[in-house]
Amino acid sequence: MTSPAPGRAIRVVTLYDDVMNVYADRGNLIALKARAAEHGIGVEVVSVSLGNPLPDDTDLVLIGGGQDREQRRIADELAAHGPRLRGWAGAGTAMLAVCGGFQLFGRWYRDASGIELPGAAVFDVTTLAPGPGAARCIGDLLATAEVEGVREVVGFENHGGRTYLGPTAQPFARVEYGHGNNGEDGTEGAVFRNAVGTYLHGSLLPKNPALLDWLIAAALRHRYGDDAPEARIESRPAPFAERAHAASAAVARRRSPKFEPVVK
Ligand code: GLN
Repeated sequence: MTSPAPGRAIRVVTLYDDVMNVYADRGNLIALKARAAEHGIGVEVVSVSLGNPLPDDTDLVLIGGGQDREQRRIADELAAHGPRLRGWAGAGTAMLAVCGGFQLFGRWYRDASGIELPGAAVFDVTTLAPGPGAARCIGDLLATAEVEGVREVVGFENHGGRTYLGPTAQPFARVEYGHGNNGEDGTEGAVFRNAVGTYLHGSLLPKNPALLDWLIAAALRHRYGDDAPEARIESRPAPFAERAHAASAAVARRRSPKFEPVVK
């Protein structure tokens, strides 16, 4: 067995983390750094906010959630980065876009005041805020991921917007408890190659170690090539994260409605 070269690292871009950070979404970066260190992998972070250019390349992109007001601040700029972000996603860059960030990684989001915000269109999804008086999708969410090796994912959702998958979109997960994309069709989030969009806050990554390792492995493959020894991570236990996962999953099973598709 060849051992991985020392000194390997992944490059991470955080998008607008000073604007888009609700329910501790910034914790995803903290968890990523800690887990990467356990695997012996360095993390080089470039923080991109309003007015900043994107770097030439990256292995992983993170963006958190935000309310309509914050989304309005970043939408035009993020959409202008769309061609580059889509190119990265197509080339296998790992991405995690949460809630408001996920909505703006879609084609567009028509917000609660009826304004249509452009998206970066990494995912073939669109999002509509329902009219005033409609219930928000709030609560603990448990879903079964459709990406290899990840299985059950848990987190907290709180969104007014209803997201619908376009013809080329794949759901990230299937809802077991909670609402997911729209409360109707049982889909949660979207996945395109190694890019994941999801409504799961939490923070998500500290309590979903399988997804965290999946993102790190994807970032390594992007950096070093699919077959390179440097792109391999050994499976290693994550006992605290597994306990956090189990506790959140138990809460979701106890408190959230079992998902029943809406029949129209
Ligand atoms: N503003 C969006 C909605 O309510 C996103 C909210 C969020 O990121 N928590 O649908």
